[in-house]
Amino acid sequence: MKIGLKTGIGRGLFIAGLFAFFLTCAAKEASAQSQMAEAAPKRVAIHAGRLLDVRTGSYATNVFIVVEGDRVASVGPSAPPGVPVIDLSGQTVLPGLTDCHAHILGNLKDESPSASLRISSPMGALWGVHNLQIWLDHGFTSLRDAGESDLAYGQLALRDAIRQGLVRGPRIVSAGNFVSLTGGHGDADVLSPDQALARRPNIANSIDEVSDAVRHDMKYGADWIKLMATGGVMDPYSDYRFEELSEAQMARAVEVAHRGGKHVMAHAEGTEGIKAAVRAGVDSIEHGTMLDEEGATLMEQRGTWLVPTLYAFQRGAETGTSLGADPIMAEKDKAILSGQQPAFERALHHHLKIAYGTDGDPDYSSKEFGSLVHGGLSPLGAIQAATVNAADLLGRSHDTGTIESGKFADIVAVSGDPLQDITVMEHVAFVMKGGEVIKNETLAAK
Ligand SMILES: [Zn+2]
Repeated sequence: MKIGLKTGIGRGLFIAGLFAFFLTCAAKEASAQSQMAEAAPKRVAIHAGRLLDVRTGSYATNVFIVVEGDRVASVGPSAPPGVPVIDLSGQTVLPGLTDCHAHILGNLKDESPSASLRISSPMGALWGVHNLQIWLDHGFTSLRDAGESDLAYGQLALRDAIRQGLVRGPRIVSAGNFVSLTGGHGDADVLSPDQALARRPNIANSIDEVSDAVRHDMKYGADWIKLMATGGVMDPYSDYRFEELSEAQMARAVEVAHRGGKHVMAHAEGTEGIKAAVRAGVDSIEHGTMLDEEGATLMEQRGTWLVPTLYAFQRGAETGTSLGADPIMAEKDKAILSGQQPAFERALHHHLKIAYGTDGDPDYSSKEFGSLVHGGLSPLGAIQAATVNAADLLGRSHDTGTIESGKFADIVAVSGDPLQDITVMEHVAFVMKGGEVIKNETLAAK
């Protein structure tokens, strides 16, 4: 009995133990399954009525882009069963766009030369958050900040905050602050001599000072260095026709930046400054508004990129002083426009590598498409400038620029055929960035 009882208790314990073991196993299994469900990337398919291959300009019809998490998983004639489908069957689908010449901080509708001095760095960055939503809304899922005048580097904070998911915005690669001569296009101190600001780290008058300025930007995380090779339009004292930084200064900037794996862009409007910057080895010429034959030949030989920003100058001539620009700035804008079209034709004639850049208010960020086409670039060329070419210039071809399996699911859609009418790019109906739907106006239309 005793033994039997013992045995009975033992058996009971054994069975209870076994039961508990199975329960634990079942619980573990369930939790593993739920963890798998949580870990499995979300899948969604986009049914594209028409998908533009931006490399060739050919259309594929009724294509399904399967998105898994933040990347494109496949592009094919059907979607796997059970995967939710976003219906863009009435749309033309293209890769997300890239603006290679953006200034993101501050109130971009205030063109007063003292605007950046009347706003704190935090407020400038908050304006930046606002501005970036407008770029996204126009289909720009990536951009390059072309430099700022912010001692606190708000642009780099925004770049990192977006990467960390704190703020919604385009993917950003960013220049630091404008490297400029005293009194050059990037000298933010527009005050009278007896009110002058303390000298800032972006001011470089010698070759060694260029190293200091470049290293300062690199220390705080700039991806690009922005050089002021010539004077410009949007300041009250520089002359856009003349070279500012010397070729030796720019060569030093290129040497220091490239040695650290960073790239160099040069604001260059006047003829001689463009050529000096190209000879110094910069990666991209911004504006190139007075490019001559010799400069175009040099750029072609060296493979230097051109970011023409045509519309910014055209719009500037229209807005004049109405947004707070100094009358001197408005006059400069009008005067430089006469050089724009011949220079752009030279660039096209020499088959320069062209990337899309806006240099202005993001409300007008899509207008450059029309200006590029009006200037002589084909509609496909203009779209390439904002997609494959831009990704190439920014060193992001592995992640963006086309809709291909493995790349970020950065996808936009427009109604109509942009190869027939480029202005349809001004009305982007659908925007996805990294698998997240930012905007879908086709739903409201139904
Ligand atoms: Zn600019």
